[in-house]
Amino acid sequence: MPIQILPPQLANQIAAGEVVERPASVVKELVENSLDAGATQIQIDIEDGGAGLIRVRDNGIGIAKTELPLALARHATSKITCIEDLEAILSLGFRGEALASISSVSRLTLTSRPQEQKEAWQVYAQGREMETTIQPASHPVGTTVEVANLFFNTPARRKFLRTAKTEFAHIEEVIRRIALAKFNIAFTLTHNGKIIKQYKSAVNNQQKMKRLAAICGENFVHHALEINWKHNKLHLFGWVGLPTYSRNQNDLNYCYVNGRMIRDKVINHAIRQAYAERLSANQYPAFVLFIDLDPNEVDVNVHPTKHEVRFHQSRLVHDFIFQGIFDALNNEKVDLSFPSES
Ligand code: ADP
Ligand code: MG
Repeated sequence: MPIQILPPQLANQIAAGEVVERPASVVKELVENSLDAGATQIQIDIEDGGAGLIRVRDNGIGIAKTELPLALARHATSKITCIEDLEAILSLGFRGEALASISSVSRLTLTSRPQEQKEAWQVYAQGREMETTIQPASHPVGTTVEVANLFFNTPARRKFLRTAKTEFAHIEEVIRRIALAKFNIAFTLTHNGKIIKQYKSAVNNQQKMKRLAAICGENFVHHALEINWKHNKLHLFGWVGLPTYSRNQNDLNYCYVNGRMIRDKVINHAIRQAYAERLSANQYPAFVLFIDLDPNEVDVNVHPTKHEVRFHQSRLVHDFIFQGIFDALNNEKVDLSFPSES
């Protein structure tokens, strides 16, 4: 076969293979777009575990009528313009791939209205086989993305979908992760028309603890230490479970770098080490930790799903996290076993 440039639809479907693993990945991408758009209220409606319908509605800045088709184009983004931007990312998105990928494997409708437009407009794409057409619609300021019949044109992918219950459980986990990272944003999650989760905007400490308890359980909240540790431009904050609240699997591990949920060996090693003397090999710590650092110090463009990062000074980050948690756990030990004599 001669070498050929793939048609855009096929190229997008191949890219979708990386980013769109299952309905939960679509939910993650859409909600991240809403957050990047500055939304304060995000509603997520799911039907049939997401295989039927995924609808994300926000009150963010919206997309201008003239830019609607571009939003669906591959490598089209409003979040970076040059390589320097890529080296200091603060938005959750930047690859300009999600909507192009998702629309290549579903029937996608994008409806939006920015503040400065009197009316809303809508584009529809079905597996991207046809040109997108723009038509007027009714919508308040903000954006709604509807993804119907995910994988309708990629049967191999569709076959890998699990039951609606399992797929919805993955979606719930995505929402939990995001709701933990964005306390001030209100989220509503429905399944087949029924409200499953509702997180009101949490601004003060009491409200935050309520959301933390709703997501991680009352028990965690009562057996967790708050961490707030700063060194130079590094900031570590959140909650770590007391060693007495250890788990037999790593099912309560939430770790965020600059607001992005990630998995990272360096961080996990540092945490593990801080607990080393407190936990046996088959016990796992519970934690919700946020690491904020200069965006120039971390590379987020490691993988299309953006679940991984690379720190420029990983040893420094490692030791910083270790010290913060180790100190918190140790002070706690002192408090418990040697009550102060004052
Ligand atoms: P990326 O997020 O990497 O830029 P996407 O394909 O997810 O790529 O989105 C493409 C563009 O569409 C975004 O850069 C943004 O300008 C616009 N967009 C997508 N979703 C929304 C939304 N909910 N509100 C406002 N703009 C959006
Ligand atoms: Mg995006």
